[in-house]
Amino acid sequence: MSIIPSEILAVIGPRLRSSPVDVNAIASDLGLGIYESNLGNGISGVLVREPAYGSPSGFVIFVNRDEPYVRQRFTAAHEIGHFVLHRERIGQRVEDNYLLRAQGLSNTLESQANRFAADILMPYELIQTLVDQGINGIDALANSLQVSQIALAIRLGHPT
Ligand SMILES: [Zn+2]
Repeated sequence: MSIIPSEILAVIGPRLRSSPVDVNAIASDLGLGIYESNLGNGISGVLVREPAYGSPSGFVIFVNRDEPYVRQRFTAAHEIGHFVLHRERIGQRVEDNYLLRAQGLSNTLESQANRFAADILMPYELIQTLVDQGINGIDALANSLQVSQIALAIRLGHPT
């Protein structure tokens, strides 16, 4: 079972069928602004309710531009998860540290955001499609999906 709500899946579903999944386009589909920013050491991502940026939802995501690209993608997907799943309970701002833990949010909410990120970046059907195309092994699959090898190994249930 995917953690992505069906009404969200109806909007972003087509994005989940080509590799690498376009996270920025998914953010736009959902009315989110998304920016790279110098967030400072130890902060990976921020989700903030800030209508001044003019995004349709009134929310904006910032990801730390100094972190590796695949990590920025995972952080962005994690923040989209907080927006989709938790925006009624986060107040003005969520700031995730390098472990993708935000002050005031429980481990359960953080796990949900991580599952959401995995479902977006590494859809099982897309992985199967890639394997059917002859893209095999963690290296090649992670490279195609533009995710870290560790994230993919966890997704596939391999020991890391
Ligand atoms: Zn978080």
